Amino acid sequence: MNLLDGLNEKQKEAVITTDRHLRVVAGAGSGKTRVITTRIAYLIEELGIAPYRILAITFTNKAANEMKVRVENILQVNRSGVMISTIHSLCVRILREEIRHFNYPQNFVILDSDDQKSILREIYKKLNVEIKTLSYAQALGYISNNKCAFIPAQKALDMVSYEFEKLMANVYLEYEKKLNDMQALDFDDLLIFVYRLFKENAEVREKWQDRYDYIHVDEFQDVDEIQYGIIKNITSPTAFLCVVGDPDQTIYTWRGAKVDIIMNFEKDFKGCESIILNENYRSTKSILQGTNTLIKHNQNRVDKDLFTNNEEDSKICFYESQDERYEALWIARKIVDLKAEGVPLHEIAILYRSNYLSRNLEKVLLDAHIPYRIYGGIKFFERAEIKDALSYLRLMITDSRSMSELAVKRILNVPKRGAGPKTMETLDLLAQANQEDYFDVLCNHAVAKGKTQKSIDEFVTLIQKYRIEQKEYAISIVLRKLLEDSGYFKMLEVANETERMENINELIHDIESYEENNPEGSLDDYLQMIALYTDTQDEEFNDSLQLMSVHAAKGLEFDCVFVYSVCEGIFPNERSVNEGGRHALEEERRLAYVAFTRAKKRLFLTSSAGYSYVTQRMKSASRFIKELGDDVLNKEGEVFTSYSEKPKSQSTQSRNVGGDGSTKMQMPTSKKKGSIRKGDLVTHEAFGDGVVISLKDGVATIAFDKRFGIKKLSATHRMISKK
Ligand code: ATP
Ligand code: MG
Repeated sequence: MNLLDGLNEKQKEAVITTDRHLRVVAGAGSGKTRVITTRIAYLIEELGIAPYRILAITFTNKAANEMKVRVENILQVNRSGVMISTIHSLCVRILREEIRHFNYPQNFVILDSDDQKSILREIYKKLNVEIKTLSYAQALGYISNNKCAFIPAQKALDMVSYEFEKLMANVYLEYEKKLNDMQALDFDDLLIFVYRLFKENAEVREKWQDRYDYIHVDEFQDVDEIQYGIIKNITSPTAFLCVVGDPDQTIYTWRGAKVDIIMNFEKDFKGCESIILNENYRSTKSILQGTNTLIKHNQNRVDKDLFTNNEEDSKICFYESQDERYEALWIARKIVDLKAEGVPLHEIAILYRSNYLSRNLEKVLLDAHIPYRIYGGIKFFERAEIKDALSYLRLMITDSRSMSELAVKRILNVPKRGAGPKTMETLDLLAQANQEDYFDVLCNHAVAKGKTQKSIDEFVTLIQKYRIEQKEYAISIVLRKLLEDSGYFKMLEVANETERMENINELIHDIESYEENNPEGSLDDYLQMIALYTDTQDEEFNDSLQLMSVHAAKGLEFDCVFVYSVCEGIFPNERSVNEGGRHALEEERRLAYVAFTRAKKRLFLTSSAGYSYVTQRMKSASRFIKELGDDVLNKEGEVFTSYSEKPKSQSTQSRNVGGDGSTKMQMPTSKKKGSIRKGDLVTHEAFGDGVVISLKDGVATIAFDKRFGIKKLSATHRMISKK
């Protein structure tokens, strides 16, 4: 079979244009990646190019693996020998051969972000810098910005114009020294070292230029200046560079990606051929029409028209639920239906804007026994901060020895109390010798000296205090207070760990929902229930549902795609829009375009009403739903309580979709009804006085003092009384 069979004319032209540089600019699903894979196969098969003379750069490891498989499938060989990798892996490979030019050992160390933070910790100690003065994230951001602008620490220090900048520059100076001493490289260095090497050392540059005759770059719209510099320099005067991309899918400008690079490509690569593809092969007519309409709302773009000849069509399904639990249940039920129709689970993906959003989905999927994998992320209940918080809670319960061991070991030094490996060893020895519970060991014996022991004593007192208090208070309140008093929140706050903070808030939100639904439930009951979610063995299912953030889904495609929580404030993400200025909303819209265009056959978007503790207001459907255009949407609203129960359909005609918060949907009437009413003044034992701002389904939304904010509480909870 001819390699070119099945390609359209423009694609064929792109595949066979191998005698000059080439730029392919085209919308999602138009076959850009397919052009690269076919072009590689064409070079090998038709032109007899040795596979190892070909280089392809992709954005993620997953994309690199998929490209390898696709090339090998076309060529029908197991190992083609083509170098297909991400730019970071390529740089590691180059540096393993060339690092001696910097007088570094060949087995140089690569630092990840945790390593970077431990280095900063030491530096802060040395320079007497308080983490509350300068957070790690701020320091790392400052360092990265300077490094990527090629400003060494001493120069940065010479240029400082105010005190705080001087502090950051001094930290940078120490960081630079430390990395030099360790002969270690952080992720920025991997690219910067190669960039410099290629720029400064003609011999090395030419050596690498000599390796590749054909270079391909996928997702070119997201490269930054340094990456582009590397790509330019590895392209020899006789090699040909082929770049493909879609400016509408630029989603990394916040990290330095520059869409101008693809737009101005012909200035650097004179005589380059530009090809535009405009037939979409991935998606149905409705998905294509809707996403085209959506992206047209961006002002700052070049319009392009995509069409499809795909015959099959089904409208984009938009489900709006009255609360987030039903939203996730609805998704699970749809997935059960799709599976019954014969769709394999790996062809179904659930995408979300922020990682904390997976919590609700994961619980429902576990309940429904639907196996799932999370790409580029960690399952919610396995995330470090969630394990930490649950460990604090576990210590509130006194009768399980092994639990106490794990919990004590996990949190004794989180936040830092100076308890290192030696303290842990002493703890182990004492527990064994006395056959004592780990927490009791801490109560009864000294395990360290001086300041450390003092901090440990404080920890013990804190736990003992809350062991008593937890009998009186709701679990969510205990956890919040524990994390506050133990310094855990502070630790996250000063390190600017927004995502971890979001996850903890989501856990507290989970506990609150549990309390609302199980007014009699104890802490023990809750932890046992959670254990069911955390102890599920990670069986390797051959066929699992795919969960991932929208960023991780770039370049991928699935038969059926669900995008969860498409609500104002969440997607578009309010924080990014607030911090990112006027272009940030357009980047959020491009992100929505990337998310929605992953779907081949069916696209399901969901949102829910109710209060969002993230945006601190009532949720409503995202503007991006409205922007798809009404004619491609099929709106559904169903109310049911379990994924196996038959839904009762509701009319959706009268509902309003948009960003104005006026979305209404009938609620199932609650059996429990509190004696408090909207507008009532109430007192809560922990939060003090408040006003009931709404009452729905037995749940009261109460505005308390600024310190506690607005809370959703069980209206009949024992802690609440009318004033
Ligand atoms: P994205 O911008 O999302 O990365 P893309 O432009 O890279 O999209 P591909 O992933 O290459 O698009 O192609 C989308 C889908 O269309 C793939 O399943 C691919 O196999 C299919 N496809 C591409 N070209 C053709 C064609 N000529 N005939 C049939 N199917 C095609
Ligand atoms: Mg692609």
